[in-house]
Amino acid sequence: GKTIGILGGGQLGRMIILEGRKMGLRFITLDPAKDCPAAQVADEHIVAGFDDLEAATILGEKTDIILYEFENIDINLVRELEKSYRIPQSSRLLEITGNRLLEKQALTDAGVRVAPYQAIETHADMRSAWHSFSAPAILKTVRGGYDGKGQWRIHTSEEMSRLPHSLFGEDHTYIMEQYIPFRSEISVIVSRGLSGEMKVFPPALNVHRNHILHLSIAPAPLKDHVIEQAEQMARQIASYLNLVGILAIEMFVLEDDTILVNELAPRPHNSGHYTYDACQTSQFEQVIRAVTGMVLGQVMMHESALMVNVLGEHTDQLKEKMNTLPTTAKLHWYGKSEAKKGRKMGHLTFVGDSIDGLISQMEQIAIWPQLTNKEKQQIGILSNR
Ligand code: ATP
Ligand code: MG
Ligand code: MG
Repeated sequence: GKTIGILGGGQLGRMIILEGRKMGLRFITLDPAKDCPAAQVADEHIVAGFDDLEAATILGEKTDIILYEFENIDINLVRELEKSYRIPQSSRLLEITGNRLLEKQALTDAGVRVAPYQAIETHADMRSAWHSFSAPAILKTVRGGYDGKGQWRIHTSEEMSRLPHSLFGEDHTYIMEQYIPFRSEISVIVSRGLSGEMKVFPPALNVHRNHILHLSIAPAPLKDHVIEQAEQMARQIASYLNLVGILAIEMFVLEDDTILVNELAPRPHNSGHYTYDACQTSQFEQVIRAVTGMVLGQVMMHESALMVNVLGEHTDQLKEKMNTLPTTAKLHWYGKSEAKKGRKMGHLTFVGDSIDGLISQMEQIAIWPQLTNKEKQQIGILSNR
C-alpha cells in the first residue's frame, strides 16, 4: 500500500490516520512535538520543526504523497518540497489560506462576498482606517491566528488608541475588518479530487464561545435556499482555487439571508468532525480519497448530528461522567497530555433525529454552561421576537 506523509501532528492528522489505516495506508508524521496526537497513531514519526527542510526531505523520501493538516507551515519549505515530491494540495493553496489578505482577495476574485476590510501595517494606518468602519471593527493578524488568537475587537476610537504600538513592526501585518452582526455562522466543507469531481458535505451551523468553536449542528437548520446558496459558493471557491483535497469555508449568514465568507481552511475542520460518525464518508477519509486519486465518497447523512468540543477546562468533569454518557454519544479523544484552558482535548458527537433531542442529550451531561438565549437564536430554536 501507499505511504502518506503528514506535515502537522495534531488531532486532524490523528483522525486522518485512523481513517486511512482501515484503507490499508501507512502514515509518517512530522511535527516538533514527540508525543503529539497524530504521532501516537502513526507508523513512524519525525520530530522536526515546520521549517526543517532536511527533515521534510526525509519525509518526502519515505512517502508517496505529502499532506498538510495545518496552515501555519513555512511556505518556503512546502515550495521547496513540491519540486521533488507529490503535494496534491499544493503550496499555492497553503500560501493563500495562510494569509488573510491573499485569502480575501482570492475569495473576491472567486466571486463571493467578504466583510469590508483594509490592510494595516502601522498604528497610524489603523487610526486612519478606523474612520471607514462603523464600530465595532476587528483587527486580525494576517498570518498565524487561530481560535481568535491574534484578534482584537475594537468598539471605540479610545479603545483603538490604547492598542500598544509594540503590536506593529517588522513582519507584523494586520487587517481591519468590519464587525458583521450575523444571525448565524455556518461552515461548508467541499472536497475536490484530481479529476475535478466535487462533493459538498452538509453545511454545519456553528456556535463559538470566546472565539473558539463550541458546537456544530448538521445539517444546519436553515432554509433550503440558504443552504443551496452556501453549497454553490463552496463549489465556486473550490473550482476557482483548483482545489485538490478538502477546503472548509466559514461563513456568516446575515438577517436578510445573504452570506459573507469569513475564512478558509485547506484541511479537515473542527466543524466537520460530525462527519466521522454521521456521514457515509468522513472528512478525513474524503481528503485521503481526494489526494490519492480515488473517487470521492458519498456524503449523505441519515440523521442529524451535534458535535461539542471538550476543552481543557472540561476534561476532569468529562472523565467523571465517562460511564454514564448517553448511548448515542460518540467520544473522540486526542491524547494530549496537558489539559490547558481553551485547548481542544477531544469532542463528542451525538446522532439523532431532532435538534432538540440532541441538545437535551448534551445538556444531560452538564459539563458546559447552558446555551444562552442568543445562542438559541443562532441555532434557530428560539425566535428573536
Ligand atoms: P479559527 O480557529 O476558526 O481559525 P481564527 O482565529 O482564524 O479562528 P476567525 O474565524 O477569523 O478567527 O474569527 C473567530 C470568530 O470570531 C469567528 O468565528 C466569529 O465568531 C468572530 N468573528 C471574526 N470575524 C468577525 C467579523 N468580521 N464579524 C463578526 N464576528 C467575527
Ligand atoms: Mg482561522
Ligand atoms: Mg475561523
